[in-house]
Amino acid sequence: MDQNEILRSKEQIIEVSRDLHEIGLLVRTWGNISCRVDDEHFLVTPTGIRYEDLTPEMIVLVNIRDLSYEGEYKPSSEIKVHAAAYRIRQDCNFVVHTHQVFASCAGTLGIKKVFTYYEDDDVVIPVARYAMPGTDELARNISHTLKKYKDCNGIIMANHGTLCLGSNYKEAVFEAEMMETACNNFLVDVCKMDVVQGVEALYNSHLEDGKIVYDIKDTPERVRQIHEHIYSKRKDVRYIVHNKSDAVMTVSRIADNMRPLLDDFAQLIGTGVRVPANEGDVYVNIKKNVNVVFAPNDGAYCVGPTEDDATAVAIVLDKGCIAYMAAMRNGEAHYLSFFECLKMNRHYRKTYSKLADLGKAYTPEKEEDS
Ligand SMILES: [Zn+2]
Repeated sequence: MDQNEILRSKEQIIEVSRDLHEIGLLVRTWGNISCRVDDEHFLVTPTGIRYEDLTPEMIVLVNIRDLSYEGEYKPSSEIKVHAAAYRIRQDCNFVVHTHQVFASCAGTLGIKKVFTYYEDDDVVIPVARYAMPGTDELARNISHTLKKYKDCNGIIMANHGTLCLGSNYKEAVFEAEMMETACNNFLVDVCKMDVVQGVEALYNSHLEDGKIVYDIKDTPERVRQIHEHIYSKRKDVRYIVHNKSDAVMTVSRIADNMRPLLDDFAQLIGTGVRVPANEGDVYVNIKKNVNVVFAPNDGAYCVGPTEDDATAVAIVLDKGCIAYMAAMRNGEAHYLSFFECLKMNRHYRKTYSKLADLGKAYTPEKEEDS
């Protein structure tokens, strides 16, 4: 292997990841990118590192056949899926796996193909059957779909995200962008929803030395009460993002119960979230290991031990709410089972939970004293 070529490929992966991050198709550490370097190896982004922090030495060289790798960085947990793409598609040299919003949401509806359009062309996007992330079953389901649709450069992984292939990075990136527009067209056309994605934060707060500090000084009393209740019931919470995005507001008005439709919802938010019908019930819904508290007609409070964690929950909730609306309007969907959600949630908490003591928990008495 030519080491200069390897370095160039690593730099290419980083460049592509930054571009996709910039246009919003890759967020935080979610998703991954790989590039074939010869018949036996591909390079892939590492697990758990943000795209903006990537350096060439973090990109991992993986064997296509046996998935072995060397070095201190662990490759993405989805290497089985990347390897399957390189094994099945000899013409494929670049793979992008994203958790992009509209394509992921279209992939929760229990349909085998998404029939839609991009500009003036009809587009058919196959949806690979669901299996839990990182499993052999998921790699098998992806392989099955790739073999069945040999000319297809983009597939949806049900309830999870996308897999975009190309003979070079440009083709793979185009596929990801095209799929997002095409799936948005699908949601507008079929589900009759034209929703703006993204977090719309309003009354945020955090703990400082056991006291609540609000971002907005004139945060209303009824909102402060909810923040106080969350901090007093959840000693692990130190940051609250009040998410009032389009989709979250809609769900806070119409839903009564949200079951996970997407893997990242089960992982970061919990196995399910109740949406209360009236103000008083908000307090009942503050629960351990459920990182979202809905308020009727007023969006949702997304909680975490740090600003970063609470923001991640807010991003995942927005997407989850778009999926929920699509499912309601489509009339059917493929929901994740409680067992699958519980397993993913536990695994995620075990792997990513912040174990460090981040400071004092909320102490209401102390606040009254001072
Ligand atoms: Zn993924």
